[in-house]
Formats: sequence, C-alpha cells, structure tokens
Amino acid sequence: MRTTLLLAASAVALAACGSATEDRASTADAESGETQQASWTYENPASWGTVHEEYATCATGTVQSPINLVRAEATDSEDVTLEINWESGPMIIDGAGYNSDLVAPEGGYIMLEGTRYDFLQVHVHVPSEYTIEGEQPAGDIHFVHANADGELAVIGVSMTEGEPNTVLAAAFEAFSNEEGAQTFGGITFDPNALLPETRSFFRFPGSLTTPPCSEGVNWVFMSEPVTVSADQIAAYTALYGNTARPVQPTGDREILFVEG
Ligand SMILES: [Zn+2]
Repeated sequence: MRTTLLLAASAVALAACGSATEDRASTADAESGETQQASWTYENPASWGTVHEEYATCATGTVQSPINLVRAEATDSEDVTLEINWESGPMIIDGAGYNSDLVAPEGGYIMLEGTRYDFLQVHVHVPSEYTIEGEQPAGDIHFVHANADGELAVIGVSMTEGEPNTVLAAAFEAFSNEEGAQTFGGITFDPNALLPETRSFFRFPGSLTTPPCSEGVNWVFMSEPVTVSADQIAAYTALYGNTARPVQPTGDREILFVEG
C-alpha cells in the first residue's frame, strides 16, 4: 500500500506545477476507463476547473496556489522548523515536451515541522507564479517533495532579472522539447546553490499550480530571490511560452513568516 501511495504521490508530483500534465490526464483517463481526453493550457487558466471533472478543484478550491505574498500581512512564527538536506549529483532532465523537470539528485530530503519529505524534482515557471508585495518576478523555481503518505511539500524561490543564474545555466541550455529523461553525466547539479543566502520564508497551505490543482500541498516560499538573466528567460519562453498560473485568492488561510 505504501508503495502504491508513493507511486501515486510521484505521479502527482511529476504532474505538479506545469510538468507532465498530459501524462497525468491520460493516466487518469486510463484508470477510470474513460476515453475523454482532457486538455488545458496557460491560455485559459480561468476555465481549468471546467475542462475536465478531475480538475474541478481548480475552480472550487479554497486554498489554491499561487498567491500574492505580503510580509506585513503574514504572522511571525518561531514554531515552523525547516531543515534542507539536498544532495548534488549528475544533471538529469526529464522533459514532457512542453516543459522540463530537473530530477532531484538521489537521497535528498527536507524535514518540515518534523516530517520527512523526499526530494523529487525541480522545475521553473516563467514568469513567476507567486507574486511578492504585488510584484511579479521574472520566474520562480519550485522544489517538489513528498512524504511517505504522499503529501507534498514544495519550496519556492523567486528569480528576478539580473545576473545569469549560474546553477541553472546548463539546464537552461539543455531544456528542449524532447520528451523523457536524459542524463548529463559530466554536469553536476547542486540544488543547494539555488537557494538565496537568507533563509527567511513564508509558510502556508496551498495547491498544485496546474490541473488537477489538488490541495493539501505544504508550501514554503523564500522571501529573498535569486537572479536569472534576460537571455535565460528569453530562451525558456521561446521553448515553452508562459508557464505561470495567475495568483489566486488568499482567502482565510493563515500565512506564517519565519525569519531566517
Ligand atoms: Zn511549479
């Protein structure tokens, strides 16, 4: 049962936030025996909730992602603990044809409020999905994790336009419309180097930012950005176009802020 849950979690995680979405829809259809082919695009985010019954949460959910993060509206907390234990390893890019993930180097995990979440993958959105103080950065990076029960924890980091992102430079060059996983043995991917120096963060409940927009995702979003160059953003946009869901209502949820 645990294996099944983990596999299910991986499928959801790989579908999270803009990757392998068509696979996810096809799998769901296969499981339910339906022949209906679901489709969604970034052209029509307001109608995601109605293009397929499995995506209803995109419209009816109450803790959807992304949101606008406002420091003055967040509650200071000293109770939230976060330990990041990521490994570095060969760069592996897993393409879905219309987006790409970096497969997390083996053995990485985080401890969030005492629960272990294994590190699955990293992907990028352009422009940024989360906005900070009403500003939309050039992009954001999502680090996706899952615990033994299949619950997800995602760490987000904004990328503002400036110096090239040296950690993702090789990935930005390797991203393509190719589907499937490709290992770049001579290139080391160190996700730790993608984090900002200051580890202050927002902590809040949210969702996947792509259909099926499933809720119950534990979000951590770093308040300090890293940089990305205009050329890197242009290359990514040329390949994939816009990959950002617009911000959703914050509603009643509590946004915590943890000083790093
Ligand atoms: Zn994402």
